[in-house]
Amino acid sequence: MMCGTKKILIVEDNADLCDLFTITLKRLGLEIAIAITGEEAVERASAMKPDLILMDIRLPKMNGVEATKQIKADPSTKDIPVVILSAFSMSSHGRHAIEAGAVEVLQKPVSVTEIERVLNKYSCTGHEAQTESSSASVSAKRSQETSNILH
Ligand code: MN
Repeated sequence: MMCGTKKILIVEDNADLCDLFTITLKRLGLEIAIAITGEEAVERASAMKPDLILMDIRLPKMNGVEATKQIKADPSTKDIPVVILSAFSMSSHGRHAIEAGAVEVLQKPVSVTEIERVLNKYSCTGHEAQTESSSASVSAKRSQETSNILH
């Protein structure tokens, strides 16, 4: 794949949703790691240096906004794009997440198309041409599957 396999850190405390994310994103050729708490998200971000973090807001103990703040406060992880996935994107949590340094807040349920869009937008810049052709082949493949919705 272009610029190596993209590593995505999924931060989500709902086990079913984790499974769904993992299956769907692996099908796109992405390397996936999971964190289920805010603390784990901070540790994993530092250890694996993912290309993108998909972060839930409601998490046990430390929430997604606080985890984002810590990731952005660490020089070794501050440049990793954090995309927030929330059932309540319009709430004050969404605004706080942006203030904490998240690049975008997506409303759950999130479609595979949306995930691909943020991947192409925020990770692996400088490889647009390859990213586009890869994304086209993924789209063709996906059109055979019905819309795969991630809650
Ligand atoms: Mn949650």
